[in-house]
Amino acid sequence: MIFGSGTLSQLPDEVARLGLRKALVLSTPPQEAEAGRIAALLGDASAGVFAGAVMHTPVSVTEQAMAAVAEKQADGVVAIGGGSTTGLAKAIALRTDLPQIIVPTTYAGSEMTPILGETRDNTKTTQSSPKILPEVVIYDVDLTMTLPAGLSGTSGINAIAHAVEALYARDANPIIDLMALEAIGALYRALPRIAKDPGDREARSDALYGAWLCGMCLGAVGMSLHHKLCHTLGGTFDLPHAETHTAVLPHALAYNASAIPSVIERLRGVLGPDPAGALYDLAGAVGAERSLKALGMPEDGIDTATERAFANPYWNPRPLERDAVRALIARAWKGVEPRA
Ligand code: NAD
Repeated sequence: MIFGSGTLSQLPDEVARLGLRKALVLSTPPQEAEAGRIAALLGDASAGVFAGAVMHTPVSVTEQAMAAVAEKQADGVVAIGGGSTTGLAKAIALRTDLPQIIVPTTYAGSEMTPILGETRDNTKTTQSSPKILPEVVIYDVDLTMTLPAGLSGTSGINAIAHAVEALYARDANPIIDLMALEAIGALYRALPRIAKDPGDREARSDALYGAWLCGMCLGAVGMSLHHKLCHTLGGTFDLPHAETHTAVLPHALAYNASAIPSVIERLRGVLGPDPAGALYDLAGAVGAERSLKALGMPEDGIDTATERAFANPYWNPRPLERDAVRALIARAWKGVEPRA
């Protein structure tokens, strides 16, 4: 893991260190130019660009990328972008065990985890394997400067969600707790500064640092109801990932609050007297959409999402109660304040 400003220049050394001779560069369509610059930086060690990554890692896109890997005889992948591009690199690595170098440009944190969520027929399933964990991650603050203010806020709150759920994970531990609280504090302070001035380099650096820690939390311990709901909502209604996390997190924390008094106490030290309310206010402060309705979820989806939350549920500190879970989803759909 490499962290800093201008660190992308170390990519050719990392490619050589892994012994790669033809690395396929991955990106989303909007970041194709960035991917082209990386391919140019790699010169002969580049196998070209596949710029077809999209959100929620649909298996159909992975199959197209796999055809490019075979055709170009790639022996590794370099992903530049957010969690969508990282997801594609991981999907390729799962199938081929090719080495991955990830250059994250959002705060999603996927690069630090051995977890892959893939979507097939509107259903997102998650799996974990050592093959999925990237070999090298290059964090370059410079590449996050272009992340639009809106996405910076929601992507940062997506990262906070990993750390919040890590604090009350069934397999929580004191080291991850330290990382989680440090990460939540770093992002909580940095995100409103980025919203005010997206060119604030120090705030960008703090946010990326927080995002890295959040990714570590996500990779180390299990997630609960919040992540289950967001996976379900994203896969079922094709909702945008970071925005969905942002809308749901205050409500998921409020749902769990009564079952996790010591976690709430520690969160108060970072977020103030009402942690769930503070996360709702943070979403407002960064200009995020707080209602799932506005993100495109139909009202009858509240019942569908409730049903799906109970299918293969994740462990959760508060037992899942159908009426209360439905009420949680309904409040997030409306975008009103969280209620314990
Ligand atoms: P994303 O990767 O879809 O990026 C959103 C958009 O922003 C894309 O169009 C992208 O090209 C653009 N973008 C990214 N960085 C930019 C930058 N610096 N400047 C300008 N534009 C930029 O969004 P995301 O929220 O990072 O990732 C969401 C996906 O990641 C979801 O599919 C989610 O499930 C997955 N995810 C997986 C894990 C895991 O551990 N498996 C963790 C977090 C997220």
